Amino acid sequence: MTPRAILPGATLGVMGGGQLGRMFVQAAQSMGYFTAVLDPDVTSPAGLVAHYHIEADYLDEQGLAQLMQRSAAITTEFENVPAGALVTLGAHRPVAPTADAVAVCQDRASEKAQFRRSGIPCAPFALIDTPERLAAVPDSLLPGILKTARLGYDGKGQAVVADRAALAAAWYALGQVPCVLEQKLPLALELSVVVARSAGGDVVQLPVQQNLHRGGILAVTQVPAPDASAALQAQAAASAAQLATDLHYVGVLCVEFFVTTDGQLVANEMAPRPHNSGHWSIDGADISQFDLQVRTLCGLPLVAPRQHSSAVMLNLLGDLWFGADGAERTPPWGAVLALPGTHLHLYGKASARRGRKMGHLTVTAATADTARATALQAAALLGLPAF
Ligand code: ADP
Ligand code: MG
Repeated sequence: MTPRAILPGATLGVMGGGQLGRMFVQAAQSMGYFTAVLDPDVTSPAGLVAHYHIEADYLDEQGLAQLMQRSAAITTEFENVPAGALVTLGAHRPVAPTADAVAVCQDRASEKAQFRRSGIPCAPFALIDTPERLAAVPDSLLPGILKTARLGYDGKGQAVVADRAALAAAWYALGQVPCVLEQKLPLALELSVVVARSAGGDVVQLPVQQNLHRGGILAVTQVPAPDASAALQAQAAASAAQLATDLHYVGVLCVEFFVTTDGQLVANEMAPRPHNSGHWSIDGADISQFDLQVRTLCGLPLVAPRQHSSAVMLNLLGDLWFGADGAERTPPWGAVLALPGTHLHLYGKASARRGRKMGHLTVTAATADTARATALQAAALLGLPAF
């Protein structure tokens, strides 16, 4: 609990120096906070723009001590921060989200247990952590998706498995670490909801986001969600708020959902932090998901964000930095920025690699049709597929 508000002029700490940390730092700085980032990478996107960059490993005691000494309150920007580090920090400073909440989201099995406790449907699944449990998997889960219980992201640590032989091979290939096998669901849509909860229990959220993934990585987010009924959207929003409340969550939480071809809403996973699918809110809403992170961390009033523009976000992966011949190139920013309502966000990463998130482009417009039409033009200029 934050006993009283931490006001601008104080220093806010972040565990992790990726792009989410960078956008948190930018939001905090624009409100007059100082910022400190702990990340071992000298060139981390958030470290580059923070007032203080502590270049240390997440479990380095001296590094954690420095972060505590600098910071009035501490947040995290990625869910794989060791829970032990958050426990250490939380003993001395307000930390939001808490180590407990982050721990639930760090493990797919505990995440699904939370969905069950909150009465929210998820894909049929089995935990596989021993050869016996592998052998006992019911046929009904195949074809399925095998996912490492921990440390997976952007489709990494996952394998689509058609039958038992493929399942066994995939589990051994993943090093026999604890995994969940989920039934492969026929998806009509993917949605997500960003929710923020204060220490006092106030909950606000961003509108429901519709997401398109390519190769397991988010490619496009559209808000408002063009293909989800009002009833589905209301259900997704209520489920996300329920989870935040049940977790006694403080901070920004994102819940990913599937909509199956028979119209069922199914929870997929949670992220204890702002989410790639919420980036549009920087340009399309009056309070962004990063502003919400600052407000919840500092105990500032939580007011409902208002979407003022229709928005389409395109993720910019490192692939765009390579031409058809494989040679490095600079994407055609000039042509893209000549389109109305385009907002370019690049994360300051030193080198482009295929599949690496280098930035995103948000297109805002007065109507969803215009935002989409302009985003399709931008996608064509960048060499991205239509959606
Ligand atoms: P990550 O942590 O990499 O985001 P997810 O569990 O969200 O992992 O899976 C990435 C993507 O893979 C999803 O957004 C979805 O497109 C697809 N996917 C994951 N699980 C299933 C499933 N059970 N059925 C069908 N598609 C799935
Ligand atoms: Mg996901």
